Amino acid sequence: MAYNLKFEKDIGDTIKKYPFLKITRDDKESYLKGILDINDNKKYLGSYSIEIKGSRKYPYEFPITYEVGGDIPAEPDFHKYNDNSLCIDIRASEILKCHSGMTVSTYIETELIPYFANQIYRKLTGHYVNEYKHGRDGIRQFYCRLFSTNDIRLWKKCVQHAFSHIDKERNELCYCGSGLKYKKCHLLTDEKLILIGKEQILNDLLIL
Ligand SMILES: [Zn+2]
Repeated sequence: MAYNLKFEKDIGDTIKKYPFLKITRDDKESYLKGILDINDNKKYLGSYSIEIKGSRKYPYEFPITYEVGGDIPAEPDFHKYNDNSLCIDIRASEILKCHSGMTVSTYIETELIPYFANQIYRKLTGHYVNEYKHGRDGIRQFYCRLFSTNDIRLWKKCVQHAFSHIDKERNELCYCGSGLKYKKCHLLTDEKLILIGKEQILNDLLIL
């Protein structure tokens, strides 16, 4: 992975907060390596042996975490790839979460710890507490929520509208035909679509 200055700086801040993670250097890069404890309301749930490495577009995409202790099977159904990296979220959702930048600490707090807490829950009960889907199903689920509809014809309309450069008056009726004002209906959807970017959206919709 390419040298990422922002990542290098952020891992320096992260180790102050997570004392069991240490900065490790190989000839290519610096990364975090160590133990992450998972607590829920101060109740200790378990620990995972991990490495967190910089990604190409960090901080506008998540860093990459590898679970190297072998506690989680490297299988798609467990949201872990066979190179030990974790499947934390689908791409489009990740872009939205990172649109104003992400730090390693924030990522650990808001993505990684909930991910591992969910894995611990599954170990105990056999299923995830929040089963978030991934792959095609996850992408479909994400866009159904984003477009606020299961109607694929309306998805096309949303994408066309978001990227048409037509300035729709906020107080006009929404293009989706709901009868609501645009500002109370699909304005927010359009804003998110623009953040995700046309290329990513068209790629995603193509495989559905
Ligand atoms: Zn609408």
